[in-house]
Amino acid sequence: MEKRVALITGAGRGIGAKIALTLAAMNTDIAVVDYGDEASAKETMDALAAAGVAARYYRCDVSDFSATKEVVDRIVKDFGKIDILVNNAGVTADKLIMRMEESDWDRVIDINLKGCFNMIKHVTPYMMRKRFGRIVSISSVVGLMGNAGQANYAASKAGIVGLTKTVAKEFGARNITANAVAPGFVKTAMTDALTDEQKQAMYKMIPLGCLGETEDIANAVKFLVSDDARYITGVVLKVDGGMYI
Ligand code: NAD
Repeated sequence: MEKRVALITGAGRGIGAKIALTLAAMNTDIAVVDYGDEASAKETMDALAAAGVAARYYRCDVSDFSATKEVVDRIVKDFGKIDILVNNAGVTADKLIMRMEESDWDRVIDINLKGCFNMIKHVTPYMMRKRFGRIVSISSVVGLMGNAGQANYAASKAGIVGLTKTVAKEFGARNITANAVAPGFVKTAMTDALTDEQKQAMYKMIPLGCLGETEDIANAVKFLVSDDARYITGVVLKVDGGMYI
């Protein structure tokens, strides 16, 4: 099978880094797009190099329309094509609406939602020419169920659902699929910092009784970009231990 190239945003660390390593294990070359400096992603880049695939780091803010165009063009020059786009970069700025500033709203929507649009807008012309593309965007169960204190984040993640379904309809005829993965609580530095009491309260909301691991999300992405999922488009795959049924 022809070697594939994946562009993964926010892959410097966390869930994105695990997605990058999981796709690298499928013999996929990886373009990491992140807005930290390259040193902050050293661990990920070293692990990708050790996996034996071509991997490069590109510093770019996904909310910047013209910068994302430049970075996509650069990646196609460097790798020759982009087969897979994973929109993973995301941030939170949690506050009740009463206290939420306009800047909190704009920042989260610009990175989490407009960032996906920017990448899709610039990557799809290349995918259309190849008549092949796999797009997966990381939403959240919060986008499906809402969450007090996360109006901006929930709206951005719900927006990804509408965007994904539209992309699936607009590009299906070109053999480009678009799907979303909606994680529940995933074990990260953020959830590690919670008190035992907070963790217990969280476990009560989850039928499977534990947090997800980054590989649970990466495995869902791996499936959706694989040939086994060639007839799947426009779906939102919840990976949440049953938290939102
Ligand atoms: P994280 O903060 O560990 O990683 C996010 C990455 O995105 C970082 O490398 C960061 O530098 C990058 N990033 C942030 N803003 C960017 C920008 N403007 N341009 C380019 N890169 C940018 O977060 P994570 O927990 O790994 O989350 C990854 C994705 O999964 C996010 O979209 C998040 O909303 C979603 N998610 C996470 C959880 C969870 O429990 N951790 C649950 C549901 C959904």
